[in-house]
Amino acid sequence: STETDYELIGKNEVLPLYIPREKFSHKGTFGHSLIIGGSHGKIGAVTLAAKACLKVGSGLVTAYVPQCGYIPLQTFLSEAMVITDEGEKCIEHLDFEIEPTVIGIGIGLGVSDKTVKAFSDFLSKNEKPLVIDADGLNILSKHKELIGKIPAQTVLTPHPKELERLIGTWKDDFDKLVKAKAFSKKYDCVLVIKGAHTITIYKDKGYINSTGNPGMATAGSGDALAGIITGLIAQGYEPLSAAVFGVYLHGRAGDIVVEKIGYQALTASDIITHMGEAYLDLF
Ligand code: AMP
Ligand code: MG
Repeated sequence: STETDYELIGKNEVLPLYIPREKFSHKGTFGHSLIIGGSHGKIGAVTLAAKACLKVGSGLVTAYVPQCGYIPLQTFLSEAMVITDEGEKCIEHLDFEIEPTVIGIGIGLGVSDKTVKAFSDFLSKNEKPLVIDADGLNILSKHKELIGKIPAQTVLTPHPKELERLIGTWKDDFDKLVKAKAFSKKYDCVLVIKGAHTITIYKDKGYINSTGNPGMATAGSGDALAGIITGLIAQGYEPLSAAVFGVYLHGRAGDIVVEKIGYQALTASDIITHMGEAYLDLF
């Protein structure tokens, strides 16, 4: 691999990706995102992802959560629809009748045996585009045979620890990228390697993000990103474009917040509420 395999992503690189809104559009035009996740004590993670998904422009958002997630979600997020699993504290069955445009899965999911079984059965029958984050990635890492079941161009969003579980340890950054590219090719997936300079890998190419700041190293920041990428795919962005553009918008929103409140006070909710300003800043 050579330097030309990598592209630095700033405003000029994401502008051509941007899909403007047509006058004669309706909420169906912008897709229906299904966010699957949550477990007792981690319903907030799904809530953040679902809210970010709405704020990035998904036409409809449904959250699929265990029963303990029903009231908090319906209370906190009026715009989202909620489907509950039979499981009380974690997802145990994973069955739904709706036909979403895209599914974001894994956020706050937990890794109990029943959840792993439900996730595995889901992957066997699923044909929708997927974004997989957090415990969804941890389950894939522990049960590598499941990785072969993900659809082409699935977006995976690991932080460094999740990446290590997924692709194994690396000697140095160069080695990490070689291994990430090999993984992306083997499974035809988009790998979003999160960190201070998030790099999105698809097969032989890498996209190095230029936005974001250390204030974003905070609880729920990654959950928001998973919702953002899901919501962009819902609106018709290709998975790779959604990943590259989503990472850019997420970081830009974080940069806009930092100007106002500084690094320490920045929360994932602030990133989400500033999504509109990140969009407006494109023009
Ligand atoms: P997670 O660990 O899943 O919550 O994801 C953390 C999110 O915050 C990712 O989108 C990271 O890229 C971002 N992030 C974490 N640390 C930094 C940092 N030092 N600078 C910029 N972004 C960061
Ligand atoms: Mg995370």
